[in-house]
Amino acid sequence: MFVNIIKPYGFCGGVNRALKLAILLRNKRPDRKITCLGPIVHNEDANKLLSDNKINIIDGNDDNFINYLKNVKKDEIIILSAHGHSKKVEKMLSDNKIKFYDAICPFLRDTKKIIDNNYKKADINIFVGNPLHVETTSLISYGDNFMVINEDNLYDLGKCENKTVNLFTQSTVSNLSYLMVKEQLVLNAKKINDFRRICGEPVRRFNKLCNEGLKRMYDIVFIVGSNTSSNAKLLLKMYYITTKQDNCYLVSDINDVKKLLDVKKSKSVLIASATSTPSTIVDEISNYLKDIK
Ligand code: SF4
Repeated sequence: MFVNIIKPYGFCGGVNRALKLAILLRNKRPDRKITCLGPIVHNEDANKLLSDNKINIIDGNDDNFINYLKNVKKDEIIILSAHGHSKKVEKMLSDNKIKFYDAICPFLRDTKKIIDNNYKKADINIFVGNPLHVETTSLISYGDNFMVINEDNLYDLGKCENKTVNLFTQSTVSNLSYLMVKEQLVLNAKKINDFRRICGEPVRRFNKLCNEGLKRMYDIVFIVGSNTSSNAKLLLKMYYITTKQDNCYLVSDINDVKKLLDVKKSKSVLIASATSTPSTIVDEISNYLKDIK
């Protein structure tokens, strides 16, 4: 079978950094309890690497993290997720002088600073993104008066009429979503302070995926990633929007691929992957498909 992998694949810089930090801490402190507040990244296999290294992950939201921190042991090491953490959690850590290591991606750390420095300079703060994603909930906790906007609630932008508005973005939103919001704001708002920050790592992947999908007709397209990964879902969505083809599937690993009946009948497969998907999973899927005669 002909298999084409969209490059780059494997971890992006932010995910790589977070995982390296966790493993480095484990190697330096083999006997200490280490706990990560939330999944360090949005990929089950990457998080399994942590559990294989005896690093605990606390699932849930801020309330779960704060409850956990109330009883944290004195010599326990806390790691904060690559996707960021809320102001409430940061305050709890600093008020109680709890030692922690921050695995936040530097790109998000800079967005956090920009929000912190500018949120008071507008009547309304708009954040373009998924309201349920931890990156969104963490970043908007550093300001106030936020509206989280996406394609589903553009009508809410009517509230911005004649107002000064700050415009912030989740790192993995599409340019299309950002432009839809900006267009509405141009019509309504008095002034827009545009702080758009979309990370280039997922953008490179979906541009290449969409270009390849338009250039050549593949029998099947796989997006390899977790269904909790924003940029895996974005790859899927952008492929559909751009190519209008319904031959694209989100798979988390080789087992998902094997479950698809059409796979063995296919002659050509295109594979793209999320920034939190280990390259080993992509290689395993690719090798399996290449061996199908
Ligand atoms: S996709 Fe970009 S913002 Fe997200 S973790 Fe990777 S480098 Fe950071």
